[in-house]
Amino acid sequence: MNNSTDQLEARRVARRKMISDAAAALRDGGLVAFPTETVYGLGGDATNDLAVTRIFEVKGRPRFNPLIMHVASLEQARAHGVFNRVALKLAEAFMPGALTLVVPRRPESAISLLATAGLDTVALRMPAHPTARALLKAATVPVAAPSANKSGSVSPTTALHVAEQIGKELAVLIDGGACRIGLESTIVACVDDAPVLLRPGGIAREEIERVIGRRLRDGGSSVKPSAPGQLASHYAPNAILRLDAQTVEPGEALLAFGPKIPEHDGPMRNLSPAGELPEAAANLFAHLRALDAEDVGRIAVMPVPAFGLGEAINDRLKRAAAPRE
Ligand code: AMP
Ligand code: MG
Repeated sequence: MNNSTDQLEARRVARRKMISDAAAALRDGGLVAFPTETVYGLGGDATNDLAVTRIFEVKGRPRFNPLIMHVASLEQARAHGVFNRVALKLAEAFMPGALTLVVPRRPESAISLLATAGLDTVALRMPAHPTARALLKAATVPVAAPSANKSGSVSPTTALHVAEQIGKELAVLIDGGACRIGLESTIVACVDDAPVLLRPGGIAREEIERVIGRRLRDGGSSVKPSAPGQLASHYAPNAILRLDAQTVEPGEALLAFGPKIPEHDGPMRNLSPAGELPEAAANLFAHLRALDAEDVGRIAVMPVPAFGLGEAINDRLKRAAAPRE
């Protein structure tokens, strides 16, 4: 073996140890932050009331907002939720991946009632990120995991974002680099025959509609409770956002999109110079944080197209721009 294969092997051993330590911490009731392809998650044993309570405390999250349970397999998901025909079709197409399904909760499920906020439904996701998958498999329990940030603020897409906000509260923080998708999962409720889009996210509505061969109903108020991602103000930076900006006003920073950008010499980030929506999604939260860190006060945001991942990007921007309490 030469030097570099030694190094590779050492890294593999370290990663395996980190994952088994994190799984042990989870089973012990501790909190673990881990990478997924969407954003970093703040995980706790979903069957442990105390661990679930700590998740709400650490995030400062309202208790009426149920969490998403993360599982290693469809079999594990089906032990906790009832999958109808549409749910199974979606699971086959998008699990593992950036889709969360809200389905009827099985009465015999050991998931904490706090985690589902007392609802008779449960949100289940199987992430695709290899580290998340290895962790969930090793943990054996379902893992309740909202985004690893303070409630209402911008979601973390790097381990550094997590460390800055909640690092002290964690038993383990697994660094998996930057998140590939960078937006939260798409949430679809499959409670009856007509699936409902509860939150746009990392999988575009069009992709889902293609698989089920019909339009998704728009959720929100029709399904209770509304997702916290549906709270008017969420994903909010400190700065005020001005959407659909064609020009930049004095004192504003610029969050640009595409190749043609208005004249501006202050702080600027471009979501995607090429005008590509997946790239813009992956950059959205990190760019909002970066502009926020410059203490700009106001951010002018250029228009982003509304199709594909643009639906979720515009959803997050709208909530980030909403008046705060
Ligand atoms: P977050 O963990 O911040 O990504 O948010 C999880 C989202 O899933 C929130 O918008 C929750 O309201 C939503 N959610 C979780 N469980 C349910 C459920 N049983 N019914 C409807 N929405 C849910
Ligand atoms: Mg969140």
